[in-house]
Amino acid sequence: MQIENKQRSLTIDVEEYFQVEAFANDIDISEWDNYPSRIDFQISLLLDLLEEKKAKATFFILGIIAIKHPKLVQKIADYGHEIASHGFNHQHITKQNQKEFSSDINQAKDLLEHLTSNKVIGYRAPCFSITPENSWAHEEIQKAGYQYSSSTYPISHDLYGVPRAPRTPYYLSNGLLEIPISTVKFRDKILPAGGGGYFRLLPFFIFEKMLKSSEKQLNFVNFYTHPWEYDPQQPRIKSTLKSNFRHRINQHSALNKLEKLCTTFDFKTLANNHMNKPYPNLGEWKNIASGDF
Ligand SMILES: [Zn+2]
Repeated sequence: MQIENKQRSLTIDVEEYFQVEAFANDIDISEWDNYPSRIDFQISLLLDLLEEKKAKATFFILGIIAIKHPKLVQKIADYGHEIASHGFNHQHITKQNQKEFSSDINQAKDLLEHLTSNKVIGYRAPCFSITPENSWAHEEIQKAGYQYSSSTYPISHDLYGVPRAPRTPYYLSNGLLEIPISTVKFRDKILPAGGGGYFRLLPFFIFEKMLKSSEKQLNFVNFYTHPWEYDPQQPRIKSTLKSNFRHRINQHSALNKLEKLCTTFDFKTLANNHMNKPYPNLGEWKNIASGDF
């Protein structure tokens, strides 16, 4: 049975299967045009499912996708979902300087706003790549005119994560709202509960249990996924066994799992769930990221 809406958000990072961070060492940005696009097909699968389940999602869309598929952006907006920004070129923040980052996130925002004639207020960093050292990142996000960011995963992981950052939403001193991805505390460990590869890897009932426990602990759900996770027909990338395993595991059963997840949780957008809420202001990112808040 579906329970009444609390603050349950479904978020979708819109990128192609060849643009993911796990393959960044195998495919240079200059080679992206050599790969066949799958995004129209993958998004239509997700839009149909969300429509059927009466769910609304936040789509964090890459600028480089929006420029090649403007009608797709308009279609997602027409279905009543939130259009948000995943930056322009999907480059890890640690690979950009402050100026490059500023230009990337401004360009994406301008383009998405132009395509939808609507304000874009949400941003998600590629691969949750804001680290304790990127003290300028949140400044630039706020300066660009975004009102919230959902760019931190407070866990330990080899590719991302700020393990000492807060697990619930909070304001930074500059007024930007940060909405972390869902985690669950089990004994004294903080575990990922917000989606990605774990969602495909774990049996559904275990993942569902973790996300329900997370909601009990934190009073909100911030689940994330990607369109390429639902498309076993996509071309295989020449990469390491580990990257391919992570990327391809259980793609064939993922749509069915997402359908079940939308039955358990009545998903709304991040903007709908979190704007104008009395979250605490925790100060400067440098201190927040090191657990000093
Ligand atoms: Zn991404």
